[in-house]
Amino acid sequence: MKFDLHSHTLCSDGVLSPAELVARAVERGVDALAITDHDTVAGLALAQQTIIDQQLPLTLINGVEISCRWLELEVHIVGLNINPQCPEFLAHLASQRQRRLERAEEMARRLAKSHIADVLPAVLALANGAALTRTHFARHLVSIGKASSMNNVFKKYLGRGKIGYVPSNWVDMADAVKWIHNAGGVAVLAHPLKYQLTTKWVKRLAEQFASAGGDAIEIISPQQTPVQKRELWALCQLHGLTASVGSDFHQQTSWNDLGKNLYLTDDVTPVWHNWALEPALNHAVG
Ligand code: AMP
Ligand code: MN
Ligand code: MN
Ligand code: MN
Repeated sequence: MKFDLHSHTLCSDGVLSPAELVARAVERGVDALAITDHDTVAGLALAQQTIIDQQLPLTLINGVEISCRWLELEVHIVGLNINPQCPEFLAHLASQRQRRLERAEEMARRLAKSHIADVLPAVLALANGAALTRTHFARHLVSIGKASSMNNVFKKYLGRGKIGYVPSNWVDMADAVKWIHNAGGVAVLAHPLKYQLTTKWVKRLAEQFASAGGDAIEIISPQQTPVQKRELWALCQLHGLTASVGSDFHQQTSWNDLGKNLYLTDDVTPVWHNWALEPALNHAVG
């Protein structure tokens, strides 16, 4: 069975609708797909409905990716098999999206001081009701010629320490783990090698994530080497965590697609080792 447990739709900063995403997952040979939009579960119901209506051979895992604070850093925690109707959980996610809106307002003010005016209305129009992300800012800044690529716009304006970067008061990592558990899900430390931490700090992060009750670490993400995968699995073993895999798909690129290169070796215990993989496992999405 092929699992891809990290992906995005138009409901945050992906480019495909939930219906298009599940269709692509099937085309790509994925059997179980988690949709994990940034701080929202808005795409799940439509994705599930599409699977039912079109009788697609795909199991949807109800997911979310929560932006968190850990020390002075931002880290991402993926929740899998959460109940997307849990009222407390939905309220928590709404508070995160409110922080996204406030951060966006401040980002626009800072960019205006650098003579890039009227960014907020453009970004709100681009997002069209989705959870507002830096990706929306990046797309706008590229479209008005402020940078030549998405990567460059982060390097120049939106990355940590740049003029458009505004730290946000995200939920503390340990509280995000509690939110996910209270909504019936498992908590996964997303792409631990993308936070630009030294090895020592990656180890510290894994240790603190485990002591906060975290369940799994994503040991396979795009552009990660087999050696890195082994090292991350060793960290899982050290702390009694299982392993997750995800493409973090936002849109098709030459190096990334749904389900691409997500192979685990037999010695690894996957996060799904104790899942009863039937549609009934996933909470009804209304
Ligand atoms: P946010 O959660 O709003 O802070 O936005 C973070 C998102 O920006 C990530 O989920 C990525 O999709 C995107 N992102 C971060 N860094 C880069 C980069 N260097 N190039 C392209 N996209 C990026
Ligand atoms: Mn993203
Ligand atoms: Mn992420
Ligand atoms: Mn992601």
